[in-house]
Amino acid sequence: MIFSADIEDWQQSVLDFKNPITRRVLASTYKLLAILDDHQVKGTFFVQGMVTEKFPDLIKEIANCGHELASHSYSHEYIFDMSAKQFDKELETSVLPIEDLTGQKVIGFRAPKFSIREDMLDWYCETLQKYGIKYDSSVFPMQVKVQGYGFSDTNIVDVFKNKGIDEYPMTIADVRGKKIPVMGGGYFRLYPYWLTKSLSRNNINEDSVFYMHPYELDPDEQRQVSKTYTIPTRLKLTQFLGRASQEKKLHRLLSDYACTSFKDKYYTE
Ligand SMILES: [Zn+2]
Repeated sequence: MIFSADIEDWQQSVLDFKNPITRRVLASTYKLLAILDDHQVKGTFFVQGMVTEKFPDLIKEIANCGHELASHSYSHEYIFDMSAKQFDKELETSVLPIEDLTGQKVIGFRAPKFSIREDMLDWYCETLQKYGIKYDSSVFPMQVKVQGYGFSDTNIVDVFKNKGIDEYPMTIADVRGKKIPVMGGGYFRLYPYWLTKSLSRNNINEDSVFYMHPYELDPDEQRQVSKTYTIPTRLKLTQFLGRASQEKKLHRLLSDYACTSFKDKYYTE
């Protein structure tokens, strides 16, 4: 399975784009690095440009640990609300700083909140290629109407291929014809681990994609952030539940499934 993490700071990327990046992203990302090190796993880290700008040493440390660095945009704002020109700027300010800091060529991209749609894929793929991006991992292969993301087109990977980009969608389990997301984000955090295991039977293979955020390893964030900001109820209900057990679940996952990065799996010369 592919292990991927989106490196962002919850208070800025989820609560309010206008908030500054805080030091919480440092603590939680170092925690994630330590967990991966315990299992000798190298993964792909999709890093937001604002995080690179604020904490360049963190990015160097991720690279020193042997993980792949990729881009998760600069601002974390929705790509489908941007013009091609704005998206170009997002790549310029997220891809180039990683390359300057680490000497690694960035070849992967993940859109914030899976915010891509079919009608924008021409300029999207063209701009990715301009920055030397070979692959994208932003497709949620089922429509999630409440969140406003996802594709129902089952040929979406071919659509990307025809536009010159390899696409690796998130993982969906097929349970008696019903599509159920598994192995990522809130789904992994909210499901008990036995449910993840059970949904994964017959649905997970070495090409499946697992994704998470370091802040999901930060159980104290809600209490701390509440001192400064009012957290909307919809976020309270979905964003914090399960954080306390995330570390334990992650250890189990990494023991049960062999994981690697996109680069090590598909792009070694
Ligand atoms: Zn994100």
